[in-house]
Amino acid sequence: MSSSSFCLLLWGVAYQSTRASSISVAFIPEASPMKDFRFVVFPLISAVAAVVCTQNVLIPFYLRAFPSFVESVKGAEAVQRLANYTTTNFHYDPWTNHTINICFLSAFAGYWSMSIISTILDILPLRQYKTQGSRSYFTVAEWLEAVLLSNVNLLFFSWFVTLPLVYVWYHVQEYRESKMIQSHTQVTFDVWKAIVDTGIHVVVVDVWFYATHRLLHHPLLYKYVHKLHHRFKAPTAVACMYANPIEFTIGNHLGVALGPVVSNCHPYTAYFWFFLSLFNTAGCHSGYYIFDAEAHDIHHEKFRFNYGVGGIMDYLFGTYYVPQISKKNK
Ligand SMILES: [Zn+2]
Ligand SMILES: [Zn+2]
Repeated sequence: MSSSSFCLLLWGVAYQSTRASSISVAFIPEASPMKDFRFVVFPLISAVAAVVCTQNVLIPFYLRAFPSFVESVKGAEAVQRLANYTTTNFHYDPWTNHTINICFLSAFAGYWSMSIISTILDILPLRQYKTQGSRSYFTVAEWLEAVLLSNVNLLFFSWFVTLPLVYVWYHVQEYRESKMIQSHTQVTFDVWKAIVDTGIHVVVVDVWFYATHRLLHHPLLYKYVHKLHHRFKAPTAVACMYANPIEFTIGNHLGVALGPVVSNCHPYTAYFWFFLSLFNTAGCHSGYYIFDAEAHDIHHEKFRFNYGVGGIMDYLFGTYYVPQISKKNK
């Protein structure tokens, strides 16, 4: 666990170094000696949450629940037919490929843990900590709509990208002359490789998301695809996957899932990455300074800035904008 914590610290610094000084965290006053470190607060919270949840909760839960789940659906012909289909056509056998299953569970847990935290905070009188103040609240109907579409995207449409990607991964592994990893017990975990791999994932998702997101702002694509995600000018966490399924699968899900395929990382790193990505995405949509929501809130409101997720591409292409920095730089 100590090596994991070290990895997290490094990751947090690396991830946010591209936008150091840009994030204002409401509960750390300007004069505080913590001021210079506030830009790593949320990535560190997310990273710790990702390690604690995936290693100590998700994996034990999966290992305990999976055999009883298999037992309960044994003989369910429709499920077995579906499993046969994915195994034959995509080399994904849900009964044996535990790595893919836990990745999926990690993404789901990442979304829901931040969504629950953020929804509880929304019930409390904390609007001064929201970047858009009292505008960033949903009605119950809006909350339900956001939850419904986000979960349909994650639970159903995500497989339209996951399965072809597993197919590609299978053949990449064949080319590398190594077997597809089915369980985290098959390979040894190296913390240094995990740090490098996570760095690769951050770059891959930022490049991919930035490019597809800028394309989605082309008037035609915006009108038919991306407008739905911009329905909420002041979103909350549950709406992070409130998007047209085309946008969700190609722009969001593929960007996150491509990294582990490129890096061929250890399953632990992949679980960590999926949890972290969804926890972070939900945080960026929560509207709270502390959850690093300011940059993405500005995107939802003003459209022309902050297209990326890691800040690297926005910095390179001059589209990064957060009011505090602009004032400071003048
Ligand atoms: Zn958004
Ligand atoms: Zn947009």
